[in-house]
Amino acid sequence: MKIKRLPKEVYDLIAAGEVILGPVSVVKELAENALDAGASRIICEITGGGKERIRVSDNGSGIEKSDLSLAFAPHATSKLDSADALERIETLGFRGEALASIAAVSQVTMITKTENDEIGSCLKTEGGSEPEISSSGADKGTDVVVERLFFNIPARKKHMGDTRNEGRKITEYLSKAAVSRPVISFRLISDGVLVFATMGNGDLLAAIATVYGNKTAENLIKVSAGSEKMQVNGYISGVLGLRNNRKGQHFFVNGRPVKNAAIESAVSRAYRGYAEPGRFPVAFVFLTIDPSFVDVNVHPSKSEVSFANQDEVSSFVYESITDILNSGNVIPKLRVPGRNLSDTTFKMADSEETIISTSGGAGEKVEEVDIKRILSDKPMDNNGNSDGEEQKNTPEGVVYDNRLQETNYSNIDMPEKIAYFAENTDYHYKESLNINALSVIASLFATYILATDGDVFYIIDQHAAHERVNYELFSKAYMKGEIVKQELLTPYLFEPPVTIGNLGSYIEFLEKLGYSVEEFGEKTWACRTFPAFVSQIEGEAFLSEILDALGTEEEVISAAAADRIMMKACKDSVKANKILSDEENKALLKELSECENPYTCPHGRPVFLKLTRKDIEKLFKRA
Ligand code: ADP
Ligand code: MG
Repeated sequence: MKIKRLPKEVYDLIAAGEVILGPVSVVKELAENALDAGASRIICEITGGGKERIRVSDNGSGIEKSDLSLAFAPHATSKLDSADALERIETLGFRGEALASIAAVSQVTMITKTENDEIGSCLKTEGGSEPEISSSGADKGTDVVVERLFFNIPARKKHMGDTRNEGRKITEYLSKAAVSRPVISFRLISDGVLVFATMGNGDLLAAIATVYGNKTAENLIKVSAGSEKMQVNGYISGVLGLRNNRKGQHFFVNGRPVKNAAIESAVSRAYRGYAEPGRFPVAFVFLTIDPSFVDVNVHPSKSEVSFANQDEVSSFVYESITDILNSGNVIPKLRVPGRNLSDTTFKMADSEETIISTSGGAGEKVEEVDIKRILSDKPMDNNGNSDGEEQKNTPEGVVYDNRLQETNYSNIDMPEKIAYFAENTDYHYKESLNINALSVIASLFATYILATDGDVFYIIDQHAAHERVNYELFSKAYMKGEIVKQELLTPYLFEPPVTIGNLGSYIEFLEKLGYSVEEFGEKTWACRTFPAFVSQIEGEAFLSEILDALGTEEEVISAAAADRIMMKACKDSVKANKILSDEENKALLKELSECENPYTCPHGRPVFLKLTRKDIEKLFKRA
């Protein structure tokens, strides 16, 4: 074949295919345009997972009629005018490719109006055809409908996922977008059903609750820290609410949802000792940093970023989160019935119909709940019309759904939700606990210590507390290589479990843990010292747990393995159901106060629970 230049139509189609990979790319590009246009409200409606129809409408700047056809030309943008400007770009888009690409592979209708224009304009194009432009009634803003996606690229069309899958990708993307901009109200409607609606009042936690569910939001604690160079804000899991995977982790850099290994590993490191291996915190981490440190071009869709000062970012995030985790903020509060956030659902003003209700977190099974058709009680026809509604004067085929515009958030009874957060969450997270200031009230069921600092009533799990104290004593001393030993009056004789094989190869490791052992008989070994901080009984139980654990480890004990072994030994050696004297209770709290993280056992179970005076008053209906 001779070399020829590709015809423009073919070239455009190939280029478009690189920008628009599927329905979610269309939503992303249109939503980003809406954000760049300064919209305070963005509504996205999809049909058939976006494969049939996608509509994104915003109340942003709109496009002037004279610019409209240019907006759809390749490499046409209003956001960039020189190579210099590329260095300090602040908009989400700048390549001027999105509208051209979408138009090349679908049928697009756009209605738009700027503030100054008296009448709006309507543009139609299909498969990259020359746009037809006419006048149209419209409110300020832009309303784009994309249909028949990939009608002219059959291979791509076939390649799209099923409706559910494509719909899920759109929900995931818009969820992140909504949380990344709590000052903007986002609404997603899928096949006529409201998936979520955020209020756009700037309350991040409320946005998280709305999008990812109350259950997720309930267990989050606030992060907010800054240095000269960067800032980290957001919410992370306290003691409760950990998950089996990382799907609840969302990272944002300068407002853009991103993937980033440095932030992810910083979060994981911070939770070491709070979360059992295999358990992951939920995290909404917003990093603000000078854009010149950030390279957003690592990934073509800008979803991955890298930092020039990767290590600095990582340790800053790590330290900020560690500080929060080591504060009393992580203590879970007992639920007070009647104001359980999980029960809070949004209701339409004049009806009992629930329009948003509790859902699972992202990536977890979303409860099938009574999210109802909200726009009217009349069923919609395929065009989104319901009869009897007055339609604005729009060209055929374009539905100007004024009910959408008119359903504003004042119809939705949100203040209750806000009040809840104001009343409970903040209050809860602001106080911090000085363990030394606690006075012990009593011991309960030979398992719990009841204590108060005058304002808050605490229940302390003796076992978890003890486990934490031992673990920190043990691991700190081990790390420093200075476990103090106590000589036993008579050597302690034991038989190692057969699973270990040759105990001889672990002598050095045991020595470092405070156990000096030597062979004594055919199967019997003798131990001459125990670590100093344990009693005789504890020391025996520790050793037996360590020996059990050794059977499952490599011969050379890594730091991580040593940690695992110490955790396990502490867990199983401390017994509940042992009545402690007042003095012992006090001593335990004193030791606990010296721990780095007194609020959870090494496996992440809570050490403290609390009830505030206000909670108790509510329970007795005094409040
Ligand atoms: P880019 O966003 O990279 O500039 P696009 O192809 O997405 O490129 O859009 C081209 C231009 O059209 C934008 O620069 C902007 O001026 C205008 N535009 C697109 N969508 C909107 C919108 N929703 N509101 C206002 N202007 C828009
Ligand atoms: Mg764009």
